[in-house]
Amino acid sequence: MKRLYGSASLALVLILAGCSSGGGFNLVSLEEEWQLGNQLAADISRQMPIVNDSAANAYINRLGNQLVSRTPMANLPWNFHIVDDPEVNAFNIPGGHVYVTTGLIGATDNVAELAGVMAHEIAHGVERHGTEQMTKNYGLSILASIALGQNPAAYQQILAQVIGGGAMASFGRDAEREADVLGTRYMYDAGYNPNGMLTMFEELLSRRQRAPSSIDKFFSTHPLTESRIELVRSEIARLPARSGLVSNSADFNSFQQRYGRG
Ligand code: ZN
Repeated sequence: MKRLYGSASLALVLILAGCSSGGGFNLVSLEEEWQLGNQLAADISRQMPIVNDSAANAYINRLGNQLVSRTPMANLPWNFHIVDDPEVNAFNIPGGHVYVTTGLIGATDNVAELAGVMAHEIAHGVERHGTEQMTKNYGLSILASIALGQNPAAYQQILAQVIGGGAMASFGRDAEREADVLGTRYMYDAGYNPNGMLTMFEELLSRRQRAPSSIDKFFSTHPLTESRIELVRSEIARLPARSGLVSNSADFNSFQQRYGRG
């Protein structure tokens, strides 16, 4: 299905989306980024245990696209994937692909907590932190050649890093804080209770004490500290009161029962 995106229609959405998002300097084009992301996602699906179940994928894509819907990249095609892995992890790769593990799904208390982690990953994507990091690592022209399929050696290196590390890269403290703040807003704008991000972070910190090996990869790429929790708390306090924010749903409970692990 991914292969069926016509390049004409992709070009159109890229034009509609404009170039208003992201780090804004020294990056490959959105079109190149989406090409690279789709290639990586295709290879990841062959090398990682991706859940291949239409009900599960429909659920996670519905939730993910709700969160994306108010972001500056809402007009681009996003894809959400579930990795069958008892470790608690989530990551974003360029080109609008977000991955969550069955271990993460199992570790959440409600849909707002899952939405919190996904909104954080979406914010990395909208801000193009992965592309930014790769531009730093490889330089713009090499990265462009990788995106165009002209540098298979460097491409394989990136792919191996994603698969081995369970993430694109470590983005650094500023990028994490930015993803927290934006993710909180995406949740609120999409109608999810942003407290979910807060309680999920608290759960992840306590899990790190109880069972550190179940969450190593997540912490190595998203250093999580009390100061990030405080930042999210103050960000939530700044949002206008709004009734009807969703914390949980029957749909989520049956999704979690079926696909959550750990
Ligand atoms: Zn992060």
